[in-house]
Amino acid sequence: MTQHLMQVSQIPAFLMQAMQQEDYIVHDHAHIVDPLALGKVTALVGTGSESKVDKALLSMLPQVKLIALCGVGYDGIDLDAARERGVVVTHTPGTMTADVADLALGLMLSVSRRIPQADRFVRNGDWVVGTFGMTRRLSGSRLGVLGMGRIGRAIAQRAAAFDMQINYCSRSAKADLPYRFHASVEDLASEVDFLVVATPGGASTLNLVNETVLQNLGPKGYLVNIARGSVVNPEALLQALKNKTIAGAGLDVFWDEPRVSAEWRNLHQVVLTPHIGSHTEETRRAMSDLTMANLRAFYAKQPLPTPVPECQ
Ligand code: NAP
Repeated sequence: MTQHLMQVSQIPAFLMQAMQQEDYIVHDHAHIVDPLALGKVTALVGTGSESKVDKALLSMLPQVKLIALCGVGYDGIDLDAARERGVVVTHTPGTMTADVADLALGLMLSVSRRIPQADRFVRNGDWVVGTFGMTRRLSGSRLGVLGMGRIGRAIAQRAAAFDMQINYCSRSAKADLPYRFHASVEDLASEVDFLVVATPGGASTLNLVNETVLQNLGPKGYLVNIARGSVVNPEALLQALKNKTIAGAGLDVFWDEPRVSAEWRNLHQVVLTPHIGSHTEETRRAMSDLTMANLRAFYAKQPLPTPVPECQ
């Protein structure tokens, strides 16, 4: 039977094609206003980082029973409102872990070895005029992972190959890991050269990286954020970079994506990427496949492959 879905963010091309091939009708949130059409929608679909679903939206959609996210983060979904209405949320954990960890290492190398600046130096013809300034070593330095989950673990694994000394802070110590646990992020920051943020976003991690954390990271420390902009206090980070109380930052996620103000774009010691942690063909296909598996299972009344932990 044809099912009516509603997209609550832009949809990756792989996923849109797959949904259309399976005869789902996908309505666009921006264009659907007719109550009759809204009443036909049985599931919402969107990406993990862009989808915002609150009580008001759900109240317009009486038949919706599933929110299928193509992404791991679900901080834009009001879980209480969803649970109240009996709506289940699924996501695609594990599909992008390796890619996001690869990008974290890429940002660590880019910011410490100043690879983007070195590229511009050659392109601008500056090499014939002088030599490129000194950079800092990654190998053998100290890493702090904030959030030792799937992505945090994959970052640590990669950092071990760079002979880094690995420290971490999570809600709980991980008995199976040989790395040094810190109960607070303030403590973690004071012991490392690179602080990499890999927690979920949302209210529970809002501004976890604050002025004190950045002070503790110190003038030789680098911050890398591949998690969510909300985990880092933007004013504190901007001040730390302007005052050089930290050495630099590599950021894949921001506070008001896709807008990144000139203040950030003009800073020389930051490397900025447009939320591309999972942007590889391989991962996008795997994320799309798992989203489709959740949709199929839902309509076939089978157990859902990957509900979010709160809906299990
Ligand atoms: P995960 O396996 O759930 O790991 C999250 C970790 O964060 C858990 O280990 C958890 O600790 C820890 N954590 C939660 N709250 C914390 C707090 N207040 N203080 C310290 N640690 C805390 O999730 P994942 O698959 O690794 O993904 C992590 C996040 O990365 C996602 O939620 C998403 O926001 C982001 N992400 C970004 C991109 C990108 O494109 N840049 C792509 C995918 C995901 P415990 O284990 O101790 O509970």
